[in-house]
Amino acid sequence: MLIKITTLPGDGIGPEVTSQAVRVLRSVAEGFGHVLEITEKNIGGAALLSSQDPLPADTIQSCLASGAVLLGAVGGPAFDRYPANLRPEAGLLRLRQELGVFANLRPAMCLRGLEPLSPLRPELVRATDVMIVRELLGGLYFGKRSTEGSAGSRRAFDTMAYSEPEIERIARIGFEVARGRRKQLLSVDKANVLDSSRLWREVVTGVGKDFPDVELSHMYVDSAAMALVSRPNRFDVIVTENMFGDILSDQAGAVVGSLGLLPSASLGGKVGLYEPIHGSAPDIAGQGIANPLGAILSGAMLLRHSFQLEAEAATIESAVREVLSAGHRTRDLAEKGQAPINTDEMGRLVAAQVERTRTATI
Ligand code: NAD
Repeated sequence: MLIKITTLPGDGIGPEVTSQAVRVLRSVAEGFGHVLEITEKNIGGAALLSSQDPLPADTIQSCLASGAVLLGAVGGPAFDRYPANLRPEAGLLRLRQELGVFANLRPAMCLRGLEPLSPLRPELVRATDVMIVRELLGGLYFGKRSTEGSAGSRRAFDTMAYSEPEIERIARIGFEVARGRRKQLLSVDKANVLDSSRLWREVVTGVGKDFPDVELSHMYVDSAAMALVSRPNRFDVIVTENMFGDILSDQAGAVVGSLGLLPSASLGGKVGLYEPIHGSAPDIAGQGIANPLGAILSGAMLLRHSFQLEAEAATIESAVREVLSAGHRTRDLAEKGQAPINTDEMGRLVAAQVERTRTATI
C-alpha cells in the first residue's frame, strides 16, 4: 500500500520527536511491504520565520493531497509578541478547520510499570485506559463572542451553540470507537443547566439506538471530573463537547502522569491529523532529551485510522510497551537514580523492536 503523508515538525521539540516517529513508521512500512511517501512542510513559528504566515498555502495544499498529516508541535516564547492571528497556534487552529477534523481522539493509558508517574496512588491509576472523544470544531471556542462597552463597564460573552447534525456526527464517532473497545460510552454534558447540553443528551441518546451493542451512560461534567481522579480505571470511552473535552482530556493526561507519552488523532474531515498532546517544550528544545513516544504512538494512530492498517499500528504499540517494560526511560519518565536515554536512542530502540517483531512473525 502507498502510505502518503505530510509531516509538519513545527517548533521546539516538534522536529526532534517527529523525526523519531518517521523513523518508526519507516521501519514498520518496510517490514509490512508498504511504500512510505513523506512530504515535509512548515507550520507555526518555523513557517512564520520563512513566509510570515503560520500556515502557508503550500502546507495546506500538501496536507489536503495526503492520506494523513503528522504534526510535531507549534509555539514558543519567541512568538509571544506576535498578534493573535499570526501566532503559531493560530496556524494549527486554521489547519484543523481547513481539514474539517471535528473529532479529537485522545487516549490516556497507564502502562504497566508506569504507575509511579501518576500523582494518584498506584492502585487507583493501575490499568487506566480511557479514550476521550472531543468535539473539536463547535461549542464555545467557535460560537459568537464579543467584548462590548468602555473601560470599567465592559461586558464580554462567548456562546456555546451546537446543532443536531454537529452532535450526531461526533456521537457516531464516539459509539464507533466504543464498539471497537470495551463497548461502554459515557456522554458528558451539563444538561441540568445548559440548553445546548439538553440537546446534546437527547441527540446522543437517539444515535444510541443504532448501537444496541454499546452501553451508553450520561454524566454531568463536574461529576465526570471528580470520577476521573477518584476511579480513572473505570472509564472506557468518553464523548463530549469541545471545552469539556479540552479540560477533561488534559486532566486524564495528568492522571496518568506522562505528557510525553500521549498521542492524539483528529478525524472526521478530509484528512486525519495526528499529533502528540504535548507542546513545543521550549525549556528542553534542542537538547535531544524529549520523549518521542507520544509522537511515535501518534504514528500508530495514523496507520490505524487513516490507512486501516491495524496490525501495523498494533506492532508499534507493542514495540513501545516492550521497550518500556525493558526499563528504558527518557528523562521525563526516569525514576530517581535511573540513567535516562535520549530522544534518538528511544526512537532507535522502538524501531529495532518493530524490526524484531516483524522478523519473528515471518
Ligand atoms: P508543553 O507541553 O510544551 O510543556 C510542558 C512541560 O512538559 C514542560 O516542562 C516540557 O519540558 C514537558 N514536556 C512536554 N513534552 C515533553 C516530551 N515529549 N518529553 C519530555 N518532556 C516534555 O506545554 P507548555 O510549556 O505549556 O507550552 C509550550 C509551547 O507549546 C507554548 O507556545 C504553547 O502554546 C505550545 N503548545 C502547543 C501545542 C501543540 O502544538 N499542539 C500544545 C500545547 C502547547
